[in-house]
Amino acid sequence: MIRQCGDHPGVALPAQLHVFVRDWLSANQVVLRSTAGSVVIDSGYRKHAPLTLALVASRPGLDGTPLAKIVNTHCHSDHMGGNAALRRAYGCPIAVPAGEAPLVETWDQRALLLDYADQAADPFPVDEVLVRDATYAWGDLEWRALAAPGHDMAALVFFNEEYGILISGDALWRDGYGFVMPPGMDPEALPATRATLEMIARLPVRWVIPGHGEPFADADAALERAFRRTSAFEADPLRMARHALKVVLVFALLDRERLPLATMPDYVAGVGIYREFNDRFFRLSPTSLAELLVNDLEKAGAVRRDDGYLVPA
Ligand SMILES: [Zn+2]
Repeated sequence: MIRQCGDHPGVALPAQLHVFVRDWLSANQVVLRSTAGSVVIDSGYRKHAPLTLALVASRPGLDGTPLAKIVNTHCHSDHMGGNAALRRAYGCPIAVPAGEAPLVETWDQRALLLDYADQAADPFPVDEVLVRDATYAWGDLEWRALAAPGHDMAALVFFNEEYGILISGDALWRDGYGFVMPPGMDPEALPATRATLEMIARLPVRWVIPGHGEPFADADAALERAFRRTSAFEADPLRMARHALKVVLVFALLDRERLPLATMPDYVAGVGIYREFNDRFFRLSPTSLAELLVNDLEKAGAVRRDDGYLVPA
């Protein structure tokens, strides 16, 4: 699904800003157009790079302006998976949050949640690091980079005071946020998630442009839902662990399009995140863990069984 802010009456965003709302495998692209050089924030998943390239080049995208920079809110595969292709096409520099740079430079597959979560991206060079509390001029607008640890401990969000626009990445969606490592894996992640929501709550936000889903105006209601979710996670770390694995499994399924049900036990025994979470939280046989995840997702209407395969619903 591709929608544009311009399609939504009442969403008064500056004319040089355009959001390509993507499906769940790819994060949204925010294009900040300037005749002096435009900026694209987040580049989608590798598999969808041809569509990302086409969108970015299109009329509501760069519209003939030069691409000066690719920026990432954080370096998960659905946000940086198109970096290499965009760089090849435009030869422009890539800027990532300072905390992500060493992980990208060493291509740390575990920390970047790549093979560790059965996700893929092409390596790319880091040309510039973005630091918290610095202000950047993109699309003839000023953007303050704010540390937003939680879903990704090195993530940044970008805030434009003039219009009250928050480019929130996976730190805040209309309903929730990107999955957070349970305390048993990273004791700092959940407290950081709460602190990041509190930081956002103090900003005069009028529009949120999330990493996934349509831009939205009611930040307070989204924050309330996000705080409620955080409290539920704080009360039940096991639920958190289950939630994280289900999110990762649905992502893999969208990427692969289907997985043979008979191989699911081998799959969860072979991919790092399932293996480690199982050792730490569930202590189930691979067969039981696979069954638990598939049943949960089936009940939630996210997947279905089809002729021996697990497919997205
Ligand atoms: Zn994402």
